[in-house]
Amino acid sequence: MTRGPIHIHIAEQVREVEACLAWSGQRPVQWLYAHAAVDERWCLVHATHVTPEEVRLMAGSGAVVGLCPITEANLGDGLFPMREHIAAGGRFGVGSDSNVLIDAAEELRLLEYGQRLTLRGRNVLSPANLSTGRWLYQQALEGAGQALGVRAGLAVGAPADLLELDPDHVSLHGRSGDSLLDSALFAARNGAVRAVWRNGRELVREGRHLNRDAIQTRYRAALDRILA
Ligand SMILES: [Zn+2]
Repeated sequence: MTRGPIHIHIAEQVREVEACLAWSGQRPVQWLYAHAAVDERWCLVHATHVTPEEVRLMAGSGAVVGLCPITEANLGDGLFPMREHIAAGGRFGVGSDSNVLIDAAEELRLLEYGQRLTLRGRNVLSPANLSTGRWLYQQALEGAGQALGVRAGLAVGAPADLLELDPDHVSLHGRSGDSLLDSALFAARNGAVRAVWRNGRELVREGRHLNRDAIQTRYRAALDRILA
């Protein structure tokens, strides 16, 4: 039997929770934990509508929650109870789902701002001794590694996934250390990304995907087919 990661989209919308209750008498996350040995291999995507008891189940199991704030906002799903999840020791990563917009920094920004808007406070998630950008990035990086079943970070044996910011980007001017991450996530947007390496392979150089032209041509052709 393979031991790879297991991803499941769960409890994203209220109607889905109601349908599950009508079918089984249990909520989706509740039902899952009653029927499967959920552990660190599991990534529960969305998990938007969960009770405090379900938050405790998820956090206690070591599973990672896969949040898609852009998609969840676009579809009007609701907000994940992030503060309760973090307080319970829960883990999270972010990802794109509907692909309405693919932007890792925007996912983290929206995640943070959604919580600030509902909780009416600043820095509602990160510990006082860490910058919000550093905390969000670090947590999401580790959560993503867990969701992919690979080690995160710069280490022997880990995938060479590297991201280089453009130090000349105007939004990063005069910033250093963790404040660079704060500005990159909250102010600079994706124009600040200069290079990307995935698994030791260079994909983006000088802010431009090496296959950008071919990708754009294929994308336009696909859209033309769909919209025809
Ligand atoms: Zn989904």
